Amino acid sequence: MSPEHSCANYLRRPRRGGGAPKFELSIVATSRLRESHAANAISDRGLSPISIAPARRTILAPLASRLISGGICGALCSYPLAWTHALPGAGVLVAVLLGAGFSGGLGGARRPLADLVLAGGALGIPLWLLGSCAGFRALAGQAQDLSAEAMRLHLPALLGWILFGCALGLVVPWINRAAARVMGPGTAPPPAPRDAPKRIVILGGGFAGMAAAEGLEEGISDADLASVILVSDQNALLFTPMLAEVAGGSLEPGHISAPLRTALRRTEFVRGRAESVDFEKRVVRIAPSTQRGGSALEVPYDHVVFAVGSVSNYFGAANIQRHAFDFKTLLDAIRIRNHVIEMFERADREGDPNTRQALVTFVVAGGGFAGVELAGALNDFARGILADYPSVPGGDIRIVLVHSRDRILPELSDSLGRYAQERMAARGVEFRLGTRVLDAREGAVVLSDGEIPTRTLAWTAGSAPSPWLKSIGLETDKRGAVVVEGTMAVAGRTGVWALGDCAALRDARENPCPPTAQFAMREGKALARNICRTMEGKAPVPFHFETLGALCVVGHQTACAELTIPFSRQKQLRFSGLLAWMMWRGIYVSKLPGLERKIRVLVNWTFELFFPRDIVQTIDLRSEDPS
Ligand SMILES: Cc1cc2nc3c(=O)[nH]c(=O)nc-3n(C[C@H](O)[C@H](O)[C@H](O)COP(=O)(O)OP(=O)(O)OC[C@H]3O[C@@H](n4cnc5c(N)ncnc54)[C@H](O)[C@@H]3O)c2cc1C
Repeated sequence: MSPEHSCANYLRRPRRGGGAPKFELSIVATSRLRESHAANAISDRGLSPISIAPARRTILAPLASRLISGGICGALCSYPLAWTHALPGAGVLVAVLLGAGFSGGLGGARRPLADLVLAGGALGIPLWLLGSCAGFRALAGQAQDLSAEAMRLHLPALLGWILFGCALGLVVPWINRAAARVMGPGTAPPPAPRDAPKRIVILGGGFAGMAAAEGLEEGISDADLASVILVSDQNALLFTPMLAEVAGGSLEPGHISAPLRTALRRTEFVRGRAESVDFEKRVVRIAPSTQRGGSALEVPYDHVVFAVGSVSNYFGAANIQRHAFDFKTLLDAIRIRNHVIEMFERADREGDPNTRQALVTFVVAGGGFAGVELAGALNDFARGILADYPSVPGGDIRIVLVHSRDRILPELSDSLGRYAQERMAARGVEFRLGTRVLDAREGAVVLSDGEIPTRTLAWTAGSAPSPWLKSIGLETDKRGAVVVEGTMAVAGRTGVWALGDCAALRDARENPCPPTAQFAMREGKALARNICRTMEGKAPVPFHFETLGALCVVGHQTACAELTIPFSRQKQLRFSGLLAWMMWRGIYVSKLPGLERKIRVLVNWTFELFFPRDIVQTIDLRSEDPS
């Protein structure tokens, strides 16, 4: 007999002296199954009224349950790995670990099944590179060989990894749900008497703000405890690592952004620009919704999170700012693409050869990730659309990358940076290294060692945290980033937090956290956990994350990758070319939110392989062209 039935029988026993038993029955059920057992047992015995509440979740129990069920899923799905690898035992072991990692990483989030299958399959590509091409060889005591010839030998394993990933995406959510039903969500002491619900206001809907909101949605299971409000002046999360692909015409703008309202189910979204914060009254003021009026909004908070990112920094060079294109937002990328097409249209009917060449000369300032990816994408785009402009000689096209250091991509190792430069130079990109952009004027860019006649300058050479932060009285460092503790809390201000590109955050080893999407997302999740801890009366935990590596696309199906090998943080796996490019695409497709977006992007990329680039202009540049 189940405990619920025994309990109900006991309550139903006839009492001495008769009369209704004086009990108030409240049951805390540890699983849905137990909840329905209890309901049946009580109603079968004609007892009422009752209250049956699900147990409160602990953090450990659901995580442990997910890890265990994920490991089981990994073992169930390991057949393709065991089948395609020389070391089947190692394949199964890796599959179990990956299954646990996949399931644990999924958290409590519910994602469409097809989305998970596709994400799992796409992750198979980078896992193949790390596992088959490097990891399994290391386990077998063989030296690493990342040559094209050696990679080709591993191609059957690629199929194994993709099948494994898809199977994992299919099986994990089902088994997780079944495990939660059987094991229950875990129990915790009954809730303490509650204060009024807390209001958590996040400012900025980029990687950091979005991850913080997602983390809070997962961490706060009870809406009566706290509400989350996300305020952003954009209504979508922009996937910046793919921005160059929009400027280069190989992706549609809508495919690299995810609407915040759709992606966040339990967060209230306010589209608007935060213009001031009253730290005394604990209120954020949102600017009126239109320039011509509309009403301003005041949003009270218990916790406020600054995740407003960064802006382009021109170091006070007003002429450059006036003449250059920013490369930060979706609109910037759309403008650049339209402007390039406009330049080709003008060059096509230009009689003067010098003017024509200046029209199809495109200068990119800055040799970091954004600048290199943009130069690579523009080079592919300009050469790809040349066939539509018969009067423009191919030899006139110039893509010039200006960089103040002696090599590009300082984020990567020396050898990989030089490889990227060689590949881009072979495709026709010119490099002006050890050179600075000093000035810009109508028709020319002035460099520290000469001038380039051009109508196009794109600026990626500097960025700085949003200057708004300083204007509202937050303490900032010399870059303008908000000074925060290791927990992302702003010292001396209760309930004020900052993260992402706008925060001067140091990890547990006192290293500065770099302004990348990879870090911003991890910081967002960690910040959500810290806010939850604070609300539970616990101390927040300092942030620490070891980078996973870096990937950079240099154009024409070529990328450079530098990845940290798990469990061996000192060693790095470096490779480049088509495989790195496939890995880059695999990772980013898997990270794109939503199945629909993933499919659209994949279809677009496939089209791009077979058809020429589209040269339709999507915005009218006559009023806003800086040239
Ligand atoms: C072209 C380009 C390529 C990149 N490539 C990579 C890459 O390959 N890998 C990588 O890891 N990183 C890359 N990055 C860096 C990465 O994009 C940033 O580190 C990341 O976006 C930082 O996230 P964030 O949330 O802090 O800021 P952001 O993503 O900039 O988000 C800030 C948000 O706040 C909003 N906002 C600003 N002010 C206000 C206000 N007052 N009120 C309301 N909302 C406001 C902004 O509109 C924006 O939506 C790239 C960046 C660029 C520009």
